[in-house]
Order: sequence, then C-alpha cells, then structure tokens
Amino acid sequence: MAGAAKRAGRSDMPKLIAVSKVQPDERVSEMLATGQRIFGENRVQEAQKRWGETFSDMRGELELRLIGPLQSNKAQAACALFDVIETIDREKLLKAVLAGAEKTGRLPRLLVQVNTGEEPQKAGLSPAALPEFLKRIKDEYDVTPSGLMCIPPQGEAASPHFWLLKKLAQAHGLSELSMGMSGDYETAIEMGATHVRVGSALFGLRE
Ligand SMILES: *Cc1c(COP(=O)(O)O)cnc(C)c1O
Repeated sequence: MAGAAKRAGRSDMPKLIAVSKVQPDERVSEMLATGQRIFGENRVQEAQKRWGETFSDMRGELELRLIGPLQSNKAQAACALFDVIETIDREKLLKAVLAGAEKTGRLPRLLVQVNTGEEPQKAGLSPAALPEFLKRIKDEYDVTPSGLMCIPPQGEAASPHFWLLKKLAQAHGLSELSMGMSGDYETAIEMGATHVRVGSALFGLRE
C-alpha cells in the first residue's frame, strides 16, 4: 500500500479495511494483535457475533464497516453495530437506516454504493442515477454521504471503474472512496482510494 501511494505521488496514506468475513476467530485475533483496527464485514448477523460477542472487549477501539448488502429489516441492528455503512443504494434502505439511527441513537457514516459496471445482478446505483439520488436524499432527509464505494465487474480491468468512481465523488464533493480488494488494491490506491477492502491477501483464503 505504501509503495502504491508513493508511486502515485500521494502524501496521504490510504486506510486498510481488513475484511474479516468468514475468517476463523484465530486469524482475526492475530490481526488484532498486529494493531489493525479497521474491519469490514459482509453480514450483520456474523458481525454481531464476532464484534458484539467474541471480541466485544475490543469494540471501543475499532472502526467497523458494513461492506455487504443490507436489508431494510436489519438496518436497526446495523446502526447499533457499525460505524460506517458502505452499501446505501436506495431510498427505502436509507429511510430504514435513519429510523434505526433514531432508535439506537447511532447514525453510522454512510457511503453510497455505485454499480459502475451496470451489472444487473449487482447491488448499487447506476452512475447515471447517482446525481438525482444525492439531490433527493439531501432535499428530503438532509443526508450527505461521506463517500462512494464500488466493486468492479470480475474479469475486467478495474481501473476504468475506479476512475469513474473518483470522478463521481469529485463532482459531488464527497471525500471517502472505498475501492480496491486483494487483487487490485494497488491500482485503486494509484487512482485515489481513501480506503481499500482487503480480505484474502491479509487473512488467507476464505473457507
Ligand atoms: C469479500 C469482499 C472484499 C474482500 O475481498 P478479497 O478479494 O478477499 O480481498 C472486499 N469488498 C467486498 C464488498 C467484499 O464482499
């Protein structure tokens, strides 16, 4: 990561989100021992067990980020646990999160997921729908997200997707850019990622 930042002439250091989904507790424990404090999870229930029970004594030191799809009926639980929700992509979900924040007294920072490859099976707003969505949630709910997140299509060069996400974030004055995984985090950093989400390259392959 430092090498990629240097190559890109960046003076800031992007942040590492250790994606601990599905990993056994021993590996997570070892990761905590290195001093890593930012973790990403895909599923609310799994994250509740890990961070709300197994490693609950560490909770105060951690930043927990939801990086997987969220169902509206789990929004309140997500507000109670996570510091950041990266996968806002529709108004109904945002409404559920705001209601959950009201109930729990915790409003996580929010990122909007953008489906940069416009893949029908993938979550996220299409790039064309983003401006209208941002305007609507500002007008209707007074919400400005912290940034944007994307997962480029598999088997395609990721850089055009990272570039597009960066342009969209710049156009709307959003500062956080969550992009890049084990296979392409260096490219993402060269293209301006503020956060990379790395699982298998850190922990080993998931079972
Ligand atoms: C699993 C996952 C990752 C990490 O993937 P690796 O290839 O193991 O680094 C990153 N982002 C999201 C959204 C994921 O679901």
